[in-house]
Amino acid sequence: MKDTFLLTDFVTEQIFSIVRWIFLVVSCVVFYYPPIASIVNFELHTFNYLLIFGFTYMSIAQIALWLAPGNHTIFSLLMKTGILFDYIALIWLLCLTGGVTSPLFPISYLLIIHSTIYWKFLGAALSCTVMVISYCIMFWISLPLSNFSIVIFLLNSIFMIVIGFFGALIVNRERHHQKLQYVYKDLVVRDYLTGLYNHRHFQESLKNSLSNSSKIEMSVVLADIDNFKMINDQHGHVVGDKVLKKIGEILKNTIPPSLGSSFRYGGEEFAILFHTTDKEKIIPFLEQVYKELREVEFTSENGTFSITMSFGLFINQHGISNQVDLVRRADKLLYKAKHNGKN
Ligand code: GH3
Ligand code: MG
Ligand code: MG
Repeated sequence: MKDTFLLTDFVTEQIFSIVRWIFLVVSCVVFYYPPIASIVNFELHTFNYLLIFGFTYMSIAQIALWLAPGNHTIFSLLMKTGILFDYIALIWLLCLTGGVTSPLFPISYLLIIHSTIYWKFLGAALSCTVMVISYCIMFWISLPLSNFSIVIFLLNSIFMIVIGFFGALIVNRERHHQKLQYVYKDLVVRDYLTGLYNHRHFQESLKNSLSNSSKIEMSVVLADIDNFKMINDQHGHVVGDKVLKKIGEILKNTIPPSLGSSFRYGGEEFAILFHTTDKEKIIPFLEQVYKELREVEFTSENGTFSITMSFGLFINQHGISNQVDLVRRADKLLYKAKHNGKN
């Protein structure tokens, strides 16, 4: 299953950062480049300060974005100050470029979308309100205005509220879809009872590992509970299920994801795929699983019992690339363990 391109908050923030740089360059051209500046004739007097303010903030933000990972507190702080910065810069820029009738007004939609991404309806409501109030103040200061300017003011205000509300709806919907997609994806690969990955994911992972790497570095473990039928018969299937669940927990907590993944292969059989052929790395973890299994005790109304498992570990030192063959070899070793007295 290939992941579709996911626009995370971190990527979104990086895109916003690029958009700000584009605005900065365009603004410089519009304000300073004589052929254009003479046409638009914007007020230049405080633009220099805005430029210094913008450049300083954006440079700091850009460096922090490069250095801070997406889940860092700096990133979260940056995202909030970014919206505040955008607000200050936008109001400033609107004042310099014609106030109520500024051609740069549509930038306010970006500001609303930005805050809506993080705070959904609250973000949309808050940014819309703040923008409308600021816009009204701008309108008040610019009075008296022509009828044409008043019409533009009214239309802009209405559009701002409509776009803010609609943007919030879309963002809400997309976030919900994203969450569902995550849940469904997990359901497809996970076993309900044990919480481990399921058989389908085992086969897919094995296939991917074999086809993606030029040098196959992997080992396969197949494990089977000893005399599990007897446990079911003596203590009942509900207790049997608890045993399976506990084994899932032990495997999940013991095998580090950097070394390998655990799966429920089928009924009472489990599998582990290690991304290494280094026995020294694998054995300590299997010994840890073995130790924990031995220590755990189960109780039912028919008494207390513990369980043992048999393991077949096939270390793929010869670079076997056939999926079925690999599993068959681990299975043979498991069979041997069963015949040599189990446990
Ligand atoms: P051996 O030591 O040779 O592996 O013997 P065994 O009894 O463990 O193996 P056998 O294949 O005879 O029995 C496996 C049992 O596992 C039979 C089946 O009822 C039980 N089983 C399979 N899936 C589940 C499950 O999800 N829950 C429970 N409670 N039992 C299950
Ligand atoms: Mg079995
Ligand atoms: Mg068994």
